[in-house]
Amino acid sequence: MIETKQIERPKLILIADDIELNRDALEVVLDGQYDLLFAENGKEALEIMRMHREDLSMLILDLNMPVMNGYEVMERLREDELLQHIPVIVLTADKSAELQALQMGAADFITKPFDIPEIIQTRVSRILELSEGKKLISAAERDRITGLYSRNFFYEYASRLFQYHTEMHMDAAVLNIEQFHSVNAVNGREFGDSVLKRIGEEIRAFISGTQGIASRVEADRFDLYCLHQPDYRAVLNRIQEAVNRHSPNVSIHLRMGVMPWREGVEPVLMLDRAQAACNMVRGNYQNPLMIYNEEMQAQELMNRRLLNDLKSAVSEHQLQVYYQPKYDIQCDPPRLSSAEALIRWKHPELGMVSPGQFVPLFEGNGLISRVDHYVWEEAARQVREWKDRYGFVFPVSVNLSRADVFDPALVDRLIRLIEENHLDYKDIKLEVTESAYTDKASTVLETIHRLRELGFEIEMDDFGSGYSSLNMLSDMPIDVLKMDMKFVRNIETSDTDMRLVKLILDIARYLGVKVVAEGVETEGQLRLLKDVGCDLIQGFYFSRPVPPEEFEKLIEKEIATERS
Ligand code: C2E
Ligand code: MG
Ligand code: MG
Repeated sequence: MIETKQIERPKLILIADDIELNRDALEVVLDGQYDLLFAENGKEALEIMRMHREDLSMLILDLNMPVMNGYEVMERLREDELLQHIPVIVLTADKSAELQALQMGAADFITKPFDIPEIIQTRVSRILELSEGKKLISAAERDRITGLYSRNFFYEYASRLFQYHTEMHMDAAVLNIEQFHSVNAVNGREFGDSVLKRIGEEIRAFISGTQGIASRVEADRFDLYCLHQPDYRAVLNRIQEAVNRHSPNVSIHLRMGVMPWREGVEPVLMLDRAQAACNMVRGNYQNPLMIYNEEMQAQELMNRRLLNDLKSAVSEHQLQVYYQPKYDIQCDPPRLSSAEALIRWKHPELGMVSPGQFVPLFEGNGLISRVDHYVWEEAARQVREWKDRYGFVFPVSVNLSRADVFDPALVDRLIRLIEENHLDYKDIKLEVTESAYTDKASTVLETIHRLRELGFEIEMDDFGSGYSSLNMLSDMPIDVLKMDMKFVRNIETSDTDMRLVKLILDIARYLGVKVVAEGVETEGQLRLLKDVGCDLIQGFYFSRPVPPEEFEKLIEKEIATERS
């Protein structure tokens, strides 16, 4: 269905001839059946072809023209990977020119003075059909849904543009759909595909005026490589509006990152940076456009350094585990109930590096598992030590990142952790961020189910920051919701936030799970949370994350209070 619609659109043909009368004559013969463009010499023809490389179907080319003649045009075309697939029909009065033109790759001839219109029409449509067939053979060049270049071809063509057209100042842009998996999950795959297709169409329309190329490189990521543009906000708006018109009843948000042309930077790196910029505005619906800048370059250098230094961080014991207490606030006075293990990196030159800086970085490439395994082992050892020293257990929660949850060895590793430290499963709790549940949900659910059956308590971290729907929630194997900090921050001043907190508590009650409020900093927040029935609190109000020696003071204080 979709394919035939595309074929039915009139094909675009460029007619290059310096004599107006000839152009007019061909217009009369071909108009109505095709969309036509005109050039008066070879140079102009090449320019127009580059503009329309995405949608031009044929060139009809006069051999004798001023400025640049037809032979030269064909020579240029032969060298140009992006244009050489466009078939050329040569216009000539000179029979002897035919052989040379053929050798240079012409597909057919139209002789002057012109044949009867039917002959011209037949030649044109036959060549178009032939070239259509050739295109099918090289279908791998194109993405099936959008008709844009597929990834490998796109990268190859971009690198050729970069190598052979140094005069062209090309920008790289990456476009992405927010939460595309949810769009698919809620509205169905077919709808998702239609959105991709609509975006593809609009990108083609845009790119054809920019001498650029575009690709759907994967799922919902679109890459563009085009002549420098002054206003990407307008470009993004244009595509966003096309999507809005396509699906007025579903809200779909696009975001875009751009790396503007810089001398000598290869397309792959340009596109990487555009992608990094695009990631920075993930979830930022107010300002979904990011242009790569100096600050990001500094960040990139920093990231590279951290990635480099991680190995020595582990071997040289720069990583330390801190503990932040969770208090049960429905008791009076509040009772120390457990702790969360949080990683700290004391870098010899950079000082204390915050996990906010390196955790997302290491999550991006799977290295986070190395950090996590270290934290789990350290936490388990610590729980064992405290159990021996104090005679009872302070359970510790550890964080699991997405990479851990998808690791097939996870369950065995955690079983070993418990057994080697002679602990019970309930002594170590597992915090899994809400966003880990949202894609490939079935794999995640299966793993979490198994862990829970073993006896691990599962806490859903950052609840409210992801996009779990209510019906998904009821299937999720969890024991505790950790309410995201952003809900607590303003409860003293904002009615809306307070109502949201109550709503989350209602959801938790409905699911039969407890709630931990994170980020509690003031007495006032504590009071409000206690009044609405929140069970546990973690936050600076009680304590910041502290090294184990200091956490022991909290334990000892707790023991003293209980005895008194
Ligand atoms: P999280 O798991 O949600 O951890 C809670 C974060 O909130 C901690 O930040 C903690 O210091 C901070 N916090 C606690 N109470 C308050 C408060 O009252 N006010 C404010 N402003 N902040 C508070 P931290 O330690 O910087 O960790 C940030 C995030 O990094 C964590 O969020 C977690 O997602 C990740 N992370 C930390 N350690 C690990 C780890 O060992 N493995 C993995 N995978 N992620 C970790
Ligand atoms: Mg956590
Ligand atoms: Mg959290």
